[in-house]
Amino acid sequence: SKDRGRNTYNFYTSQMNNDMNRRLRVEEQLRSALKRNELEVYFQPFVDIKSRKIVGGEALLRWNNTLLGQVTPDEFIPIAEQTGLIVSIGQYVIEIAFAAAKKWQQTYDPHFKIAVNVSPKQFRENTFVDMLKIQIDKYKINVNSIELEITEGVLLSGDSVIDSNLTSINDIGVSISMDDFGTGYSSLSYLRSYPFDTLKVDKSFINDITVDPGDLQLVGAAIAMGHGLNLKVVAEGIETEEQYQLLNALKCDYGQGYLFSKPLPQPAFEKLLQTQVEN
Ligand code: C2E
Ligand code: CA
Ligand code: CA
Ligand code: CA
Repeated sequence: SKDRGRNTYNFYTSQMNNDMNRRLRVEEQLRSALKRNELEVYFQPFVDIKSRKIVGGEALLRWNNTLLGQVTPDEFIPIAEQTGLIVSIGQYVIEIAFAAAKKWQQTYDPHFKIAVNVSPKQFRENTFVDMLKIQIDKYKINVNSIELEITEGVLLSGDSVIDSNLTSINDIGVSISMDDFGTGYSSLSYLRSYPFDTLKVDKSFINDITVDPGDLQLVGAAIAMGHGLNLKVVAEGIETEEQYQLLNALKCDYGQGYLFSKPLPQPAFEKLLQTQVEN
């Protein structure tokens, strides 16, 4: 009816309005989040699958804002990306992560790995590699222990800066990891063209491996392919012992997920490392 049509129209406009307002508010708050010290870097451990020992950690941002409360990375990272704020935010994450890694390499394991997510806008900056080198020198961190996680979105633009940045990063000895492997359209052709060291199988494939034989086949194939290409393979989103056992049987190299630990603030992460030393 006519009435219903009008209501639907009103519903959509007000919904769109709400979304716009929310986005603008997030953007406005995000502009000063660094200055107000609201961004915190959490760390989620990843383990060597065979020994279950923690061998590294992934830096993951958390944002707690007075007006908006806790805003998830899935909401604010795309906005940081669109506005260019990700460049300074990303550098902040690298500083915090390298400082922490330096400490853990001295106190826990000299080969302790640190994984950092790098978004397309960040990676496309022609100053990115220089910034990275400065941070490596500043924290005197072992280059072989650094993993930069990129998604296929980084490679999609076909920008020449991306190629030269990837080559320089590989030349310094920093590892490059393909994040969210299997979710994009061109992952396979990118694996052929770029110097990846690690494949990170997306958690959406790990979710159902114990119940979906197709997913189990896909994950097995991804691991075999990764190994065939001399890559290390990480499975993310491991939540159960059964999933872990299957991945162990499939000879997956590393694992990450709530089964081992959620992302933790730095002090809690260090407590967790300490319990490993004592065991
Ligand atoms: P991602 O890089 O794929 O990170 C993995 C996400 O899975 C994280 O969500 C992590 O908390 C979550 N996760 C880990 N284990 C499990 C599990 O066992 N089960 C489930 N259901 N989830 C698990 P988070 O921290 O909310 O981050 C979401 C995304 O935001 C990240 O996905 C990454 O793309 C982006 N992100 C987070 N921090 C940064 C950052 O510092 N820079 C950039 N560029 N992106 C970031
Ligand atoms: Ca990641
Ligand atoms: Ca390499
Ligand atoms: Ca993922």
